[in-house]
Amino acid sequence: MYCNNHPCLPVGTSDVFRTATVKIFCPKCSDIYFPRSKYQGNIDGAYYGTTFPHLFLMTYGYLKPPQCATTYVPRIFGFRIREKEKPLDGVDPKTKGNEKAEENKNKEVPGV
Ligand SMILES: [Zn+2]
Repeated sequence: MYCNNHPCLPVGTSDVFRTATVKIFCPKCSDIYFPRSKYQGNIDGAYYGTTFPHLFLMTYGYLKPPQCATTYVPRIFGFRIREKEKPLDGVDPKTKGNEKAEENKNKEVPGV
């Protein structure tokens, strides 16, 4: 997002064939993305493997770009989210166990 169309490298998320399609590794933010092209999306990621971009950048160190200075900040209506409010579970961890127990009770009823 903040990498200004920096050139990316192909990467696989698995070394086993037919597990995952090829992904795009951005060396600037060290993140992987789904490719936009449907042709790239059909290539097996195992052809490149999980090693390729990292070994490539180790070998050709001068191609390694400096890391992003700016990071993505999630916002709601332009306001940053308070650190305390970030988990969007919606369920209080204390009551979570009780709800599961109630769900199990409901499931048992139709069986009887
Ligand atoms: Zn990036």
